[in-house]
Amino acid sequence: MKTEEIIELHKKYVMPTYAPGLVLVKGKGSKVWDADGKEYLDFLAGIAVLNVGHCHPAVVKAVQEQAAKLVHVSNLYYNENQPQLAQALSERSLGGKCFFCNSGAEANEGLIKLARLWGSAKGKYEVITMKNSFHGRTLATLTATGQEKVQKGFYPLPEGFKYAEFNNLESCKAAVTDKTAAILVEAVQGEGGIIPADPAFIKGLKELCDEKDILLFFDEVQAGVGRTGKWFGFQNYDVQPDAFSLAKGLGNGFPIGAAVASPKLSDVFQPGNHATTFGGTPLACAAALAVIETIEKEHLLENARKMGALFLDKLQAIAAKYDWIEGARGCGLMIGLVLKDNAAPLQKLLQDKGLLTLATAVRVLRMLPPLNITVKEVEKAAALIAEACEELNS
Ligand SMILES: *Cc1c(COP(=O)(O)O)cnc(C)c1O
Repeated sequence: MKTEEIIELHKKYVMPTYAPGLVLVKGKGSKVWDADGKEYLDFLAGIAVLNVGHCHPAVVKAVQEQAAKLVHVSNLYYNENQPQLAQALSERSLGGKCFFCNSGAEANEGLIKLARLWGSAKGKYEVITMKNSFHGRTLATLTATGQEKVQKGFYPLPEGFKYAEFNNLESCKAAVTDKTAAILVEAVQGEGGIIPADPAFIKGLKELCDEKDILLFFDEVQAGVGRTGKWFGFQNYDVQPDAFSLAKGLGNGFPIGAAVASPKLSDVFQPGNHATTFGGTPLACAAALAVIETIEKEHLLENARKMGALFLDKLQAIAAKYDWIEGARGCGLMIGLVLKDNAAPLQKLLQDKGLLTLATAVRVLRMLPPLNITVKEVEKAAALIAEACEELNS
């Protein structure tokens, strides 16, 4: 099918919830190709999903082999991959148990239900989330999302959510009541514009939670699975949460999400409390196990830290040249170039030049390349950004 035919068919039969830009037909590592054969350097990685790159051979092999062996058995039966994945996540984080689902919103929904069930005997059910956060698009998670633009038109919203200012401990303290069950926070706000949490803020949150018998949750859907140069974003801070959510990078494109709990919350859900048909299938877990193995085998946490530092350096040098760029910030390979005005024209120009990025929070150019990008690819992306900025300047 030709590009125009695909687009026409899409517009006729797919709900217009997105405004896609390109027709992509093939991917390998950090590169993707459109239907006309044009090559792009993918510095979005499917929005922090392709953490080990497009079609990584180890993930392809794991999915192909498992697909031919056993795809789904329902959770009425054990499967050999699910506990191994739970162990791999537990041993790299909180030492407790996992619940598997299919998306980030569903993982956060799981955390919210976990908080409510834990709090039900104490009369606690409120969840405090941050303004400018992003937690998903189901009714509960769009309510948790502290942004009116995702809530507008969907009223009435579920009860039990309160909002506080990110990186403002006093604002969080003010939102606490005797009904507060949990505080949910991103280590680095992603959709909100790549804003890392201040260490003092996270430390203060932990103390607040301990003092008031409140659960501390991290939404690791975007920052997790090596994105920030640690397995999970909160590990950049000296803190152990009570639970966290995962999705995006966990299956390298195969849909899988998880709610990962500390021992304290590991047995709150009992049979009948929570479920999902597709959660933790042998196939999804095979993909995620291959992702974790690959990150370890190829030392990608270290690479994410190194490439992130190199890229950030280059972006800061570019930012310093123009008064219409505010600066660059990030953590590992979760990076934003912060403009003073709309970042969409820069995103468009870069796409024309063969670099995929995403304007977010209006004026931030968000970049989330695969964790295995090379020095050469970072240099190429930085050169394209420098070139595009120079063109926009004139
Ligand atoms: C993408 C994202 C979600 C939602 O995940 P879905 O898989 O789209 O439901 C939740 N939280 C954060 C931080 C995200 O980046």
